[in-house]
Amino acid sequence: MANSPRPLVAGNWKMNGLKAALTELTAMAKAYDPGLQGKADLLICPPSLWIPAAVSQLQGSGIAIGAQDCHPQPHGAHTGDISAPMIKDAGASHVIVGHSERRSDHGETSEMVKAKAEAAMAAGLVAIVCVGETQDERQSGRAKDVVGEQLRHSWPMGAKASTLVIAYEPVWAIGTGLTPTSADVADMHGFIRQECERLAPGQGNNMAILYGGSVKPQNAAELMNVPNVNGALVGGASLKASDFMAIVEVYR
Ligand code: PEP
Repeated sequence: MANSPRPLVAGNWKMNGLKAALTELTAMAKAYDPGLQGKADLLICPPSLWIPAAVSQLQGSGIAIGAQDCHPQPHGAHTGDISAPMIKDAGASHVIVGHSERRSDHGETSEMVKAKAEAAMAAGLVAIVCVGETQDERQSGRAKDVVGEQLRHSWPMGAKASTLVIAYEPVWAIGTGLTPTSADVADMHGFIRQECERLAPGQGNNMAILYGGSVKPQNAAELMNVPNVNGALVGGASLKASDFMAIVEVYR
């Protein structure tokens, strides 16, 4: 079942980009021609402040907009947070949960990630659940144990291939320019595929599993051709339309 889910290339802008950065979206929309639209889905997750503007700017382009996090509750006294129904209401379709920067900066546990993913799905959003090991964990041979545990504990009840995407992002590869070998990516994605099908029988084989961590135009073809890699979660290289679209081009 390798590479059968439709590819998704998702850009995570993190805490980058003032209003002027939205012009990059226009350039992305122009490059996302019908030839590419037939091959892969595109998603940009800007800072949540820009979601409504981004949605209106990308109307009719086929590029989807997502958020970078959501609160597990639909509303309430949670200063500074945004909820999944708010994200949906703003016109977004996806939300990233459990990014390693949220896990480390905000102490998010896998149990919290699960609650967020369930809130996202309940609001009609696709949840992108991130998992990945640190350098120490890889070097001590525990990468699969860590990723397996994150998957099991972050797994939202009732997940389907249409409502859940997994992003494997080795923490040591994020923003560092380092990437695992293709053989290591194949090994981990094969393991994640097995776990997905075990956790959601009949769904896991069709779930998109993204690779994330220093994906660039130069390494995208190699990484995207690894079995069970169904697209990418891209940080730094999603900020410029030329870099992001050069990555997407590997699917043409
Ligand atoms: C990310 O943070 O999700 C990411 C993959 O970042 P980068 O592409 O910059 O390594």
